[in-house]
Amino acid sequence: MVTILMPVYNEGASIRQTLSQVEQVLGEADIPHSYLLVDDGSTDDTWQQLLLARQELPGLRLVRLSRNFGKEAALCAGLERAGGDAVIVMDADLQHPPRYLPRMVELWQQGYEIVDGVKAHRGREPFFRRWGAALYYRLFGRLTGLSQQPLSDFKLLSRRALEAWKQLPERDTYFRGMSAWLGFARCQMPFEVEPRRQGRTKWRFSALLRLFVDSIIAYTAAPLLLVGVMGLVMLAAAAVLTVQTLWMYFSHQAQTGFSTVILLQLFIGSGLMLALSVIGLYIGKIYEEVKGRPRYLVQEDTDALLPVDPR
Ligand code: UDP
Ligand code: MG
Repeated sequence: MVTILMPVYNEGASIRQTLSQVEQVLGEADIPHSYLLVDDGSTDDTWQQLLLARQELPGLRLVRLSRNFGKEAALCAGLERAGGDAVIVMDADLQHPPRYLPRMVELWQQGYEIVDGVKAHRGREPFFRRWGAALYYRLFGRLTGLSQQPLSDFKLLSRRALEAWKQLPERDTYFRGMSAWLGFARCQMPFEVEPRRQGRTKWRFSALLRLFVDSIIAYTAAPLLLVGVMGLVMLAAAAVLTVQTLWMYFSHQAQTGFSTVILLQLFIGSGLMLALSVIGLYIGKIYEEVKGRPRYLVQEDTDALLPVDPR
C-alpha cells in the first residue's frame, strides 16, 4: 500500500486533473494506494476543488494548514500523517510526471528503502537559473559531503525510512537533503521534468536565495570554518606586512602610507562583517530551533474527527 503525498498551494485550476492522471496511472499498474494532500494555505479555490475531488476518490485524505507555511512545512505535515508501507512525495503541478510512479514502486519492491527522483533535464528554464542550480548542487555536495546530484522532492520513502525521518527533530527542514542524510538502501531514478502547465512557479529569487542559505546552514558548519581560515590568512598577511613595514621604517624609506591604511581598513572591515554575518546566520538558526515552535498548524483534517468546514 503506497501513500501519494502532495503539497498543494494555489493549484485550484489543475489539481483535479493531476489527481485523475495519477489515479489512471496507478489504476493501470494495479498499485494499491491512497492519497494525502496538504493544502498549504491556498488563497484560491484549491480547498473546494480538493473537497470535490474527495467525492470521486473516497480514499483521499485532506489536510489544510492554517496559513501558507511553505512547501517544506506542508511536506512535514504530510509525512507525519502518511500511512501505508511506502510514501511517494510528488509535486501537485504534474512536473513530476505520474508515469514514473510504477517504476518507483518497482524499485521499492526490489528492496530499496529510498528512491530518489533525479532531474535528467530541468525542463524549460531560463539560462541563469539552470546554471545557478548546477552551481548550487556542486557547492552543496562539496560543503556537506552529501549528494552532488541535482536532487528533487520527487521521492519514494519506505515505512522504515519514513520512521527514521520522523525522528529528526529540527524545526527547519530540507526534505531533499534529509533523505540523503538518512542513508539506507537507496537508488536514483532519472526523470524528465515536465514544463509547468498551469499557473507559474511559486519560487521567487529571494525564496531561492533563502533556500540556498538555509540548506547549507542546515547541513554543515563549513562556512564557520571558512571564517576561521580567512582569519588565519589575514593574520599571515598581516605578519608579512608588519615585517615589511618595520624594515621600511628602520631603513628610513617609510612613505606616508595613507592609501595602504585605508585599503587595509576596508579589507579587514568587510572581512569582519562577512564573518559576523556568517556567525549570525547560525545563531539565527539556533534561535529559531530553540524557540521550538511547531513547523505548521493544522486547520482541518478530513481524517480527524472534526467537521470539515467547506469554506
Ligand atoms: N507548494 C507548497 N507551498 C508553497 C509553494 C509551493 O505547498 O508555499 C507546492 C506547490 O503546490 C507544488 C510544489 O510545492 O505542488 C512545487 O511548487 P512549484 O511548482 O511552485 O515549484 P517548482 O516546481 O518551480 O520548484
Ligand atoms: Mg513545479
